[in-house]
Amino acid sequence: MALERRIYDSSIYRTPGTVVDQDNPFQEMMDRFDVAADILGLDDGEYRYLCTPERVHITSVPVIMDDGRIEVYEGIRVIHSTTPGPGKGGIRYAPEVTVDEVKALAAWMTWKCAVVGVPFGGAKGGIRCNPRSMSRGELERLTRRYTANLIDVFGPDRDIPAPDMNTNEQTMAWILDTYSMHARRTENAVVTGKPVALGGSLGRREATGRGVMTVTLGALEKLGLDPAACTVAVQGFGNVGSVAAELLTEQGCTIVAVSDMTGGYYNPNGLDLAAMLRYSAENAGLLQGYPDAEPISNEELLTLDVDVLVPAAKEDQITRHNAHQVRARVIVEGANGPTTTNADAILHEKGVLVIPDILANAGGVTVSYFEWVQDRMGYFWTLETVNERLDRMMRDAFDRVYAAAEKHDVSLRIGAYVLGVDKVARSLRLRGIYA
Ligand code: NAD
Repeated sequence: MALERRIYDSSIYRTPGTVVDQDNPFQEMMDRFDVAADILGLDDGEYRYLCTPERVHITSVPVIMDDGRIEVYEGIRVIHSTTPGPGKGGIRYAPEVTVDEVKALAAWMTWKCAVVGVPFGGAKGGIRCNPRSMSRGELERLTRRYTANLIDVFGPDRDIPAPDMNTNEQTMAWILDTYSMHARRTENAVVTGKPVALGGSLGRREATGRGVMTVTLGALEKLGLDPAACTVAVQGFGNVGSVAAELLTEQGCTIVAVSDMTGGYYNPNGLDLAAMLRYSAENAGLLQGYPDAEPISNEELLTLDVDVLVPAAKEDQITRHNAHQVRARVIVEGANGPTTTNADAILHEKGVLVIPDILANAGGVTVSYFEWVQDRMGYFWTLETVNERLDRMMRDAFDRVYAAAEKHDVSLRIGAYVLGVDKVARSLRLRGIYA
């Protein structure tokens, strides 16, 4: 049954012209969804409803560039499900963004929100552009026009964007302002991950990395490992990776390697993260040329002999080509989709404990939910309150996923899918199908 479904899905939901490839992110999502659907015994109608995105918006985004030329970019927004609540998900700016990638990310948001217990559905957006080659003014005009094109899609009760790769607090501030100008009132709950001065939440910037730290500690506890005796390698030194590295250091772990798009940086005695953050801030956000570490490649970083590997850069990093060489005992997926389905099977066989993305990086959407709640109350919490509630929700989610995996004798990833898909399927049954 699962195989029939998969063939059926590939033909219908793939972007026309996409090469059939195991590493296609939407197919990766479907591979795991299929297993969870079989365990849960979803009927065929529920299955199709839950894996089909509700809406896929593709919009052309014209921008007047600084030199007066008009450039046209492709903007994408996918709402995977609003069955549990309004759509929620980040927006990424990258040259290689595809509709399949955004569809996968939107579905992951649906399952992620369900796993961690926040009352949102899943959505995601992207603009195919190279933000590194664009000026601040060009990025602002790009963001505002994308928002204006999608003005009827976004809204605090409809679809709430947040930052993702290459977007940040400033991007959210532009979306908030554009939306508010159209609405004729300031509507700060339309985005999360915005500056604190505009109704952002304390602790939001660090939330994803903090959640990574919390679930890492949960995993080490299950394995009987002392954080103070553990070595960690982190791929990606952006929002998620750098914060996770800092917070794991505070917990006693030794960070022996980090990487960014310029390569890896290794020191077996532990890296000076504060110095690396300063260096990166002074060098356009990059670590290239950082002097106090041995340069290694990103490939080498992924296969270092460490206790914990945190892929926190981008998807499809641990694949059938390198999974056999991975030596970490625990992988904590700070990024979305860093491990392919084929790699999952290899890692499972090797006994590597993988904390899946839809659990491991859910700290961000959890504090986004807190931010949305605070905006709607007009009452803001202390950092201690935010962190304490975040830690509790992440630890509870970790325990629930662990218990589901044990109950069904499956990996933590499938355990998380079973939990998430089951929760959304229950909401669907209660709501029924509007006719
Ligand atoms: P970011 O843009 O702040 O940082 C990305 C980092 O990865 C940068 O240091 C970049 O140089 C590095 N990088 C890019 N390509 C690389 C490569 N090939 N090898 C090594 N490093 C590389 O992005 P972010 O917000 O930290 O997001 C990282 C991942 O985490 C993404 O998959 C994102 O979807 C996911 N995520 C982010 C959040 C969040 O709150 N920011 C929440 C959930 C999931």
